[in-house]
Amino acid sequence: MSLVVEKYGGTSVGTVERIQAVAENVAARARKGDQMVVVVSAMSGETNRLIGMARDISSEPSQREMDTLVSTGEQVTIALLSLALHNLDVSAVSYTGFQIPILTDDVHGKARIETIDGDSVKKSLVEGKVVVVAGFQGISANNNITTLGRGGSDTTAVAMAAALKADECRIFTDVDGVYTADPRMVENARRLDRVTFEEMLELSGAGAKVMQIRAVEFASKYNVPIRVLSSFESGPGTLISYEDKNMEQPLISGITSVDNEAKVTIRGVPDRPGIAYSILGPVSDAHINVDMIVQNVGNDELTDFTFTINQDDLQRSIELLEPVVKELNAETVVGDTNLAKISVVGVGMRSHAGIATGMFKALSEKGINIQMISTSEIKISVTIDREYTELAVRALHNAFRLDEIETKV
Ligand code: ASP
Ligand code: MG
Repeated sequence: MSLVVEKYGGTSVGTVERIQAVAENVAARARKGDQMVVVVSAMSGETNRLIGMARDISSEPSQREMDTLVSTGEQVTIALLSLALHNLDVSAVSYTGFQIPILTDDVHGKARIETIDGDSVKKSLVEGKVVVVAGFQGISANNNITTLGRGGSDTTAVAMAAALKADECRIFTDVDGVYTADPRMVENARRLDRVTFEEMLELSGAGAKVMQIRAVEFASKYNVPIRVLSSFESGPGTLISYEDKNMEQPLISGITSVDNEAKVTIRGVPDRPGIAYSILGPVSDAHINVDMIVQNVGNDELTDFTFTINQDDLQRSIELLEPVVKELNAETVVGDTNLAKISVVGVGMRSHAGIATGMFKALSEKGINIQMISTSEIKISVTIDREYTELAVRALHNAFRLDEIETKV
């Protein structure tokens, strides 16, 4: 007998019929004698609908009330799925985040899970019940309902699997695994059989939308292997797990793109110690995440300082930096949203030189100008003109022959 945690995302529970189909799936597995914990998201579109209603009432709604509101989406699906299981003569019980309880910090809208008390869930499992858990939500020490950030049900599933020491954690979604590139952009993109936690973290951070990045962080920290599967068709999916040093590794696992970043440039900054701190200090104090950073070589003791952020934070960043420009006696601060970040990710890069060159060559052959470059041990990212996003992703997918069977190193 194994203990299995399964998670079904919004599209997988998007209608009553879909919920019944999930119930059939779960029932089949439960009848084999496995213990099942099923985490569900809100029905697709529901979280957005709830947020929309709040926005109609208030332009700056209270974060506490927002969490109370959006957590209701998942409460609906746990009850409906439990009822659908009862119809199939499977005994099932639903749990909200606070009934378990899933204890989080009190940062509304992006709370972090602190502890999970698995006792009540374990008791229900021993009684032979399927346990249906509301994803995305928890409770803070002062008894407020919290939520874990958009896409947070993935994190609930991984955290439940870690807390219960589950044998398997399966994430059912609307795609049948992790791909070498977004299949909507690259026709011959290929499903990966497996990918390491490290690669998945880089892929999620660089634009792959398969799983919430926090869920991958959690899985890697607690070593919970995850299998990503489609709830619409059967197939092996993609296994996300630790790197197996005894196995050959693919050179490149994937190409990703992000087109919601913006670039901020401060021109004519005096080139002296403390500049990066004076510029980025106020930005990070405002909880704005900075992605790439470039400081150009100075001319006449003046330099240009450029960094990228989410484009939603552009206006705010410029406002924060206008006084800094005056203080530093710099020329000006300008923003630019016409950019995309393209990344090549693969653990094989660690032991293989020339990947960066191959990337630059492929882009130059298409006449695509590279603006900024940043690298990690297993990732190379560049920013380019946004209009060339698809062209760049396709060119790189071809250049590294990702449509073919994996090149191993
Ligand atoms: N319902 C929440 C959202 O849409 C959580 C989730 O789907 O994982 O973000
Ligand atoms: Mg979702």
